[in-house]
Amino acid sequence: MTACNVTDVNDMTNINTNINPELLRLLFEQYGALANEIVCGYSAHRPITLRINRLKAERDEVIEALELSGAKLETVGWYDDAVIVRNISQGDIESMDIYKDGKIYLQSLSSMVPPILLMARPGESVLDMAAAPGGKTTQIAALTGGKADITACEKNKIRAKRMKFNLERQGAGRVTVMVCDSRRLDPNFCFDKILLDAPCSGSGTVLQGSCDFTLELYERSRRTQKQLLDKALSLLRPGKRLVYSTCSVLFGENEDVIETALEKKARIIEISNDAFSEIPRLPVKIKGTLCIKPTELYEGFFAAVLEKI
Ligand code: SAM
Repeated sequence: MTACNVTDVNDMTNINTNINPELLRLLFEQYGALANEIVCGYSAHRPITLRINRLKAERDEVIEALELSGAKLETVGWYDDAVIVRNISQGDIESMDIYKDGKIYLQSLSSMVPPILLMARPGESVLDMAAAPGGKTTQIAALTGGKADITACEKNKIRAKRMKFNLERQGAGRVTVMVCDSRRLDPNFCFDKILLDAPCSGSGTVLQGSCDFTLELYERSRRTQKQLLDKALSLLRPGKRLVYSTCSVLFGENEDVIETALEKKARIIEISNDAFSEIPRLPVKIKGTLCIKPTELYEGFFAAVLEKI
């Protein structure tokens, strides 16, 4: 039996997979037979994907360099700067000048979605609450032409150091890095836009052969996510936008977390189906949120746009 032709959780727990049985149980409880497709998505071999860094490079220059190196390229309809690269290895890309010069950033397609949804504008103050290694911070900088004032907060010192390196290499100016727990940010701060790319169980990005998910991590993440979201809403100006995202496909870390906030502090801004129609989706509990199904191209991911009341 393979992981792709089972029909219930009892089958799933009998198969030879490294996926944590508690995760399988949660997936089956939430998704029923669709859990099977999620597990297949986990084991898919995804191609390399990257983002063209428009702070440093023109699109044509990057495409030309990649094609010259023998890469076969594909694009996506929802974002001009995203490139799917086949035929060459990550090592090949990392040895290229466009990589060393920060003209590209290796990034999963799913993780490029939240900064687009944030719709930050030049001149705005933006908080990235869980920022390292800085993939989304640098993307926000690029999307605003380097003209937004970004505060990138990261609790882990080593990851923050990596982020500083990435910010520099990507030419992302006007970013202030704060190495601290975002839950303890000064209550007098306020921002026009906030990205909360929350720490999570990683249930959308499980790889066959690695077994990072644990029930303990899941429960701990849920508690932290609620505290971070609460803090985020307290730092956001009324009427302004917050994007909440995780690389989890579990209600417990997604809809259940934002539901508490929706009761009194925020409303949902629905994510347009049209803009991201080619992205594979999982069913969601709150209309207008986006849960990306793990597939050959996409990691499992969740995003919701909230507006503070
Ligand atoms: N947004 C990042 C990117 O696109 O490159 C990925 C962020 S990763 C999902 C979550 C990050 O949040 C981790 O680097 C973790 O160390 C950090 N983190 C966890 N709890 C935090 C907290 N309370 N305050 C600030 N950062 C936190």
